[in-house]
Amino acid sequence: MEVIYADNNATTQVAPQVLEEMLPYFHELYGNPSSMHSFGGQVAEKVKEAREKVAHLIGATSEEILFTGCGTESDNTAIRAAIESNPGKKHIITTRVEHPAIKNLGEYLSKHGYRVTFLPVDRKGRLKMERFHESLSDDTAIVSIMWANNETGVLFPVEEIASIVRERGIVFHTDAVQAVGKIPVDVRKTPIDMLSLSGHKIHGPKGIGALYVRKGTKFSPFLIGGHQEGGWRGGTENVASIIGLGGACELAEEALEEENTRVRTLRDKLENGLLEKIPNALVNGDPKHRLPNTTSISFEYVEGEAILLMMNEFGIAASSGSACTSGSLEPSHVLRAMGVPFTAAHGSIRFSLSMFNTQEEIGFIIEKLPPIIERLRALSPFWKQGQKEGGINS
Ligand code: PLP
Repeated sequence: MEVIYADNNATTQVAPQVLEEMLPYFHELYGNPSSMHSFGGQVAEKVKEAREKVAHLIGATSEEILFTGCGTESDNTAIRAAIESNPGKKHIITTRVEHPAIKNLGEYLSKHGYRVTFLPVDRKGRLKMERFHESLSDDTAIVSIMWANNETGVLFPVEEIASIVRERGIVFHTDAVQAVGKIPVDVRKTPIDMLSLSGHKIHGPKGIGALYVRKGTKFSPFLIGGHQEGGWRGGTENVASIIGLGGACELAEEALEEENTRVRTLRDKLENGLLEKIPNALVNGDPKHRLPNTTSISFEYVEGEAILLMMNEFGIAASSGSACTSGSLEPSHVLRAMGVPFTAAHGSIRFSLSMFNTQEEIGFIIEKLPPIIERLRALSPFWKQGQKEGGINS
């Protein structure tokens, strides 16, 4: 069965041209970029080129790019480097809707000597800016706020936030893992000190990420001992993946326009098609400030996992808004932070598209999903009750 892949915020396929660029570096050109001989030297050249491509996508210089093992590592590195470089400061500001890469580290640090402010969001997933202003203090070591939310696609006003943080002389990091390649990101226009990105979200390979560190940012130089990456992160370079990340960044730059036109149109068509055909359905998140590829829709009085399983029978791959851990179907921390009612949060599905999706695929989802919801609601004891009470659209 063919897969209708609408889960691109989870991961993406490696683009054919990216894979092609990577392949020779597994078997023909397998030299170590640190070697003195020219066999390694030509690999070092290619690594350099990849670093330039990553830098170019975000308006940085190649000296400001540190290769890491993933977006999670970039996030952890940024926060740890900032607190190690500012040992006198014991306060960290982040939000309640960050990816676990930041959220879990924040929770850990809050038990290990740091005061961590998790800023709230409103019902549309927008940051409560007055709370952000109030939270800044002379003790703040770092502010880390994501650019785009992975579940809802909501964009935070990172340009505005970065400027305010800069005025206070505090280090600013943004997790741009979902933003890069989907919206324009330019560190020359925005005073960001550190920015995380990841290969597998932009049609590159898994297991490779990058951290942008603005020149002059106080940055602890010893994270993983060794001589590579300017002494910041030791270990022989993951050459093929670095080349893949470079290729993916080049592709992302070329495809940015398409992402914001064709992919956006597909997403809107999907969203409108489903909302038209399915009663008691609601989009989660600010519709005006959102990634062009993402929609999170709550179908009231049904279980997201049941929807996913039934869509799976038709080959449709998406995600639910539940944190399906230890057997409990708790709504995700993002939807809870937004105050999405329990009956709606439980039935929320995230569709995230890419340039590889087609009109036909969107039509297929719009055709298959309404009868699935209808069947599940027919089995739901809460559905009739909920309709009497008015539901979320009332
Ligand atoms: N940050 C955000 C916003 C993400 O969506 C993800 C992945 O889902 C990550 C960080 C982690 O990236 P990686 O999978 O490369 O560790």
